[in-house]
Amino acid sequence: MYDVKQHLRQVCDALPQGVRLVAISKYHPAEEIMAAYDEGQRIFGESHEQEIRLKHESLPKDIEWHFIGHLQTNKVKYIVPYITMIEAVDSLRLLREIEKQASKVGRTIKVLLELHIAEEATKYGLTTADCLQLLDDGEWRQMQHVQICGLMMMASNVDDEEQIAAEFETAARFFDEVKARYFADDDAFCERSWGMSDDYPIAVRHRSTMVRIGTAIFGPRVY
Ligand SMILES: *Cc1c(COP(=O)(O)O)cnc(C)c1O
Repeated sequence: MYDVKQHLRQVCDALPQGVRLVAISKYHPAEEIMAAYDEGQRIFGESHEQEIRLKHESLPKDIEWHFIGHLQTNKVKYIVPYITMIEAVDSLRLLREIEKQASKVGRTIKVLLELHIAEEATKYGLTTADCLQLLDDGEWRQMQHVQICGLMMMASNVDDEEQIAAEFETAARFFDEVKARYFADDDAFCERSWGMSDDYPIAVRHRSTMVRIGTAIFGPRVY
């Protein structure tokens, strides 16, 4: 078996204090998650509703599950009973559905707003203008069952480290703007989720608080 424990230790050693690791376990079996769990890892991220449900049912209950992928509104009801954080909220419609479903089960779900800063046209996420508009609109302030905890983004999938760094820096500065304008008195708004296996060393230099790392821990995914 791929040495998950050793790779996890290497990643953890490379992270500065205060940066939390979300171990992205999509497409990897429960045994590999348990190997990471036995090393002390408790936050895992998945991007498919069915896969995360099955893993949540069979694995220890003190695991904190994050949904990291694009989430269709009709799938929200299946994950709200147990999910801790939904990382990639990219519309008011999705936010409303999370509020509605979470209120039905009496839970509060932590969410991040997903930014689209990368150049690729295929990626999901809010432009900075869309994000400001969603926050200006103010409907989120009435929501009792969602807590907006910060921003999430993916950098472009390119080799150019300067471009990647510039995208993280844009996100970090935008975070400051949003924090000052809408969340100055809200300590819960503190997360900057950026950095994956190939770019997390750059992300942490640009104030990431949460990295989402799969391949560097679990090895290549077999789809
Ligand atoms: C799959 C995925 C990751 C992890 O990617 P790796 O390159 O394997 O570290 C991080 N974030 C999101 C949104 C993902 O879908």
